Amino acid sequence: MIAGRFAPTPSGLMHLGNARTALLAWLQIRRLGGSFLLRMEDIDGPRSRPDYAEAALRDLRWLGLDWDEGPDRGGPRGPYTQSERHALYEQALERLRGQGLLYPCYCSRAELAAVASAPHGLASEGPAYPGTCRCLTEEERRERALRKPPSLRFAVPPGRIVRFDDECAGPQETPPGAGGDFVVRRADGIFSYQLAVAVDDAAMGITHVLRGSDLLDSTPRQLLLLEALGLAPPRYAHVPLLMGPDGKRLAKRHGGTSLQALREAGVRPERVVGLLARWSGLLERAEPVRPRELVEAAAKRPLPALPIVVREEELSGMLEG
Ligand code: GLU
Repeated sequence: MIAGRFAPTPSGLMHLGNARTALLAWLQIRRLGGSFLLRMEDIDGPRSRPDYAEAALRDLRWLGLDWDEGPDRGGPRGPYTQSERHALYEQALERLRGQGLLYPCYCSRAELAAVASAPHGLASEGPAYPGTCRCLTEEERRERALRKPPSLRFAVPPGRIVRFDDECAGPQETPPGAGGDFVVRRADGIFSYQLAVAVDDAAMGITHVLRGSDLLDSTPRQLLLLEALGLAPPRYAHVPLLMGPDGKRLAKRHGGTSLQALREAGVRPERVVGLLARWSGLLERAEPVRPRELVEAAAKRPLPALPIVVREEELSGMLEG
């Protein structure tokens, strides 16, 4: 049974970059005839807001995307909101702990920052953790625990190389040690993105993950967790990001790119989808189109392989109607 998902983090308004990832993930599953799920990734409570979660659903519906299961409509694999799935993450930690794969880390932010000059780990995760707390004695742990509550790290087998085939980015191979031991639960008790996503994708029976290439570096970590938990990995496709006219990743600072702002400015959703489709190589020209009308083209064309630089005129043209 094929299943895919879009998994927004409700820490801000959806912008064109998120919308494009959502569209491509939706098209992949619709053309394969699978189930499309919406999962709200509010695992980082302090950064998440319910109104952003609401806005994400509204924006996606406005674009013409739909989902078979999600926080608003339920389904057999729910709950679909990470803050309601803590018991699953806790169970996963228990299993990893039972295998001796976790250890407490007492390093402060300053100590971790000092590692920044060391050889780099996986780019999106900062420098590789050098394993400072991995081999502390019980006594050292007790002594450090008096000063600071620990985070929990996953102990990556030394020298371990992770390989996988990305449907968009091609064959991938991590450096030995797979980027260092990584956090699965923060010192403030919040489960890490890596843990929550790996557990959720497996528990929800996700077979296809399509997401932005900013998360390519996270995949080896999720694969290591899945392997340790005895869970089957999905297939991965990491699509290149949309870049703003300044060559930097399209984001809020480029202004007017949130779907809410576009809608409020009177832009029609078909026009937005047309541009997203052109930026993804699905249309020759950015003509107004509904997501459904792109399913056939998506079946014939390969996933976009290169980052797209969004031109100023394209953004302003959309606002001018
Ligand atoms: N919640 C993540 C984000 O919004 C996406 C997670 C994923 O697709 O694995 O960046």
